Amino acid sequence: MMRTNWSGHVAFAAERCENPRSEDELRRLVASTPRLHAVGTGHSFNDVADTDGVQVSLAEMPQRVEVDGEARIARISAGMRFGQAARQLNDGGWAVANLASLGHIGVAGTVATGTHGSGDRNATLSALVRGLRTLRADGSIEDVRDADLAGEVVGLGALGIVTEVDLVIEPAFEVGQYVFDGVSHEALLADFDVAFGSAYSVSVFTTWEPSLTGRAWLKRRLDTDGPWTATSFLDGTPALTNENPVPGADPANCTRQLGTPGPWHERLPHFRLDHTPSSGDELQTEYLVPRDQAVAGLRDLEALAPRIRELLLVCEIRTMAADDLWLSGASGRATVGLHFTWQRRPEVLDLLPALDEVLAPRGGRPHWGKLFSASAESVRQRYPRFDDFAALVGSKDPTGRFRNRMLDWLLS
Ligand SMILES: Cc1cc2nc3c(=O)[nH]c(=O)nc-3n(C[C@H](O)[C@H](O)[C@H](O)COP(=O)(O)OP(=O)(O)OC[C@H]3O[C@@H](n4cnc5c(N)ncnc54)[C@H](O)[C@@H]3O)c2cc1C
Repeated sequence: MMRTNWSGHVAFAAERCENPRSEDELRRLVASTPRLHAVGTGHSFNDVADTDGVQVSLAEMPQRVEVDGEARIARISAGMRFGQAARQLNDGGWAVANLASLGHIGVAGTVATGTHGSGDRNATLSALVRGLRTLRADGSIEDVRDADLAGEVVGLGALGIVTEVDLVIEPAFEVGQYVFDGVSHEALLADFDVAFGSAYSVSVFTTWEPSLTGRAWLKRRLDTDGPWTATSFLDGTPALTNENPVPGADPANCTRQLGTPGPWHERLPHFRLDHTPSSGDELQTEYLVPRDQAVAGLRDLEALAPRIRELLLVCEIRTMAADDLWLSGASGRATVGLHFTWQRRPEVLDLLPALDEVLAPRGGRPHWGKLFSASAESVRQRYPRFDDFAALVGSKDPTGRFRNRMLDWLLS
């Protein structure tokens, strides 16, 4: 039974975790439990997946990936890990457009928090959703499609328990991953759009050291971008061995680099599904900032650099296209993710208000699955459709069966 989140710093308050094995069992559980909340693989860094009632995991439900090639839709069991679903899709010759840095996370948990990868042309993974099958508080099952999805997908577990997720698919493709060391902060900020436009998916990592020099990871889609043929990237030079984005961490945990072509699901994530992702002993925070404010936001952050680097393992900068999902960090605007992987130290919590003070005026929205400090009112104001979301929650769960501490904080 899951008693803490993945990083181990959130002790779940739930009295127990139930693992139904069928939709009928799940329906009986919902009917007989006044307060419950879905948990995926517990990779969030806050208590978004917790409850003071009963947690429900779908990990023991039948795990299926059903492809409709003509409609280009895959129906995926919500409790599957994203990386396992991706592997099965690839075995059948299919792909989804993008993946997060790791495949260990659950399909429903991924889309419920607006999880994303990188790429100017790629929206969040939540934006891949074309349908959700959801068990509501009153025991009914609703299949939500297309136009009605905008309020439902990034649902934070508030609208019910999602049992199946339909994702848009495309034919499988190959990717080559190239890493460049010594990319300077100045070169990146001077040529931000060129840098992020140079591959299908680009991540820039920095530790905010005084030289502010970083590392760029380019994931080139071989059918559209072709391989990287230049000998440098901005002012960086090619890495000669495989790397881990977290300085000092084992590159064996990472997907293959050095330009070696490979299937999309083994190159788009940074971390291998069969290894520990990232450092494993960490906390995370991320702000989703409008693209046209990102360079200014990075400049503003320079004032916090000494405090940031004292607690940081690594910072990652990624881009994503706009989507129309009400609670997505990229809702209504092309977006840049400014992500911080922290050492697991309590002082991180003291830094969070300062980070919000810098990035909120730039339109930054905190990632729902990571640590942040802001007032609920201020977070609500960052989403133009927030009131519609609150009304949707009220209509789908009038007695607050799926509410938890975070939802009470956000919605009250
Ligand atoms: C090492 C590491 C790397 C990460 N990399 C990225 C990254 O590249 N990009 C990014 O954006 N994020 C990243 N994250 C954050 C992560 O993607 C999110 O926290 C995601 O929500 C985790 O999925 P999960 O299955 O663990 O969800 P959980 O943390 O278990 O739950 C998250 C939310 O999903 C809801 N939920 C889960 N299952 C269901 C269901 N069946 N029905 C309804 N609601 C449900 C829960 O109620 C909760 O509200 C990373 C996290 C870690 C630990």
